[in-house]
Amino acid sequence: MERYPTMVTIDRVDTFIVDVPTIRPHVLAMATMHRQTLCIVRVHCSDGIVGTGEATTIGGLAYGPESPESIKTNIDAYIAQILQACDPTRPAVAMAQIAKHVVGNNFAKCAVETALLDAQGKRAGLPVSELLGGRVRDRLPVLWTLASGDTGKDIEEAEQMIASGRHNAFKLKIGKRPVADDVAHVGAIKKALGDRASVRVDVNMAWDETTARTGVAMLAEVGCDLVEQPLIRHNLAGMARLAARSAIPIMTDEGLQGPTTAYDHANQAAADVFAVKIEQSGGLFAAKQVQAIADAAGIALYGGTMLEAGIGTIASAHVFATFPQLSFGTELFGPLLLTEEILQEPLDYSDFSLAVPKGPGLGVELDDDRLSFLRRDASRATISIPTAKAG
Ligand SMILES: [Mg+2]
Repeated sequence: MERYPTMVTIDRVDTFIVDVPTIRPHVLAMATMHRQTLCIVRVHCSDGIVGTGEATTIGGLAYGPESPESIKTNIDAYIAQILQACDPTRPAVAMAQIAKHVVGNNFAKCAVETALLDAQGKRAGLPVSELLGGRVRDRLPVLWTLASGDTGKDIEEAEQMIASGRHNAFKLKIGKRPVADDVAHVGAIKKALGDRASVRVDVNMAWDETTARTGVAMLAEVGCDLVEQPLIRHNLAGMARLAARSAIPIMTDEGLQGPTTAYDHANQAAADVFAVKIEQSGGLFAAKQVQAIADAAGIALYGGTMLEAGIGTIASAHVFATFPQLSFGTELFGPLLLTEEILQEPLDYSDFSLAVPKGPGLGVELDDDRLSFLRRDASRATISIPTAKAG
């Protein structure tokens, strides 16, 4: 592929790991998180533009096959070399080159694509959402996850969120306890909040089909609005049976590992709603493909999170801002779960929603002083690529 006459090259790819404590233990069926670990990627281009990307996982390797550490290692050892030969002003060509040489590693690819699009947006003077086809909304509804596991505490937290205008939709992480206990917990919270809030659950694949059949019916009875990933990710036939008989929508999350799995879910009617995640999809454009499949199949959309911090959250926000329909809102609350602000300017969470930044690229920048404090390894550049000079 011919380069543009500018002959812009990539001088350096930096990656580093950042550990940020969470404001409270975040309890999921497969892990309890006390901190979030980010892999930050910086792509330094020869035109002076620096693009930033981020990858996170949930509970190290508890959720999926990539960890922040594996993401850093694989970018350093393999992806950075591929980028060396790429023109950063052509992000799609660069990502195609990476796809040719790297199998899987969706989260790592997403972080790199985010950095390339951030740089390209800055270069073009356009927000990333415009590079993705154009935004149709400037604000995204954001729910909050009540994950203390304690009913009284969760109700108190929900009341505070409603009163402060931050969230009026709540997701409860269930699946660790017996079904009757979980349903009692959900029912008590829904009863306390009534019509003032939407209450949904995420089972994180913890149920078998028999348990799910009972559990989903009981949840519908107590006013739950949505059940997320009740079954193991590959049981599409089971998900289809549940969705067919359920009074409330069934959503897939872990089951969606990019456009091919989205097609399989649509083809088998295995979900009423897709939770789209940019990392799980394999990048921002791949997430757009998942959205397109959902739209074609009449499946509702929800903007999911891997509990990313500011960079990954805003990359997701740019993608979701382009979705023609977003019936179930988003869960882009990752930065609110962290004790530290790592962006130069905090994100605008108000009016039960998140504002999508309007500046070029992602429209947000990391606070380097805060980051140097939180970095796991004090050493700076992890890989250095010699600049390929034009002519
Ligand atoms: Mg989920």
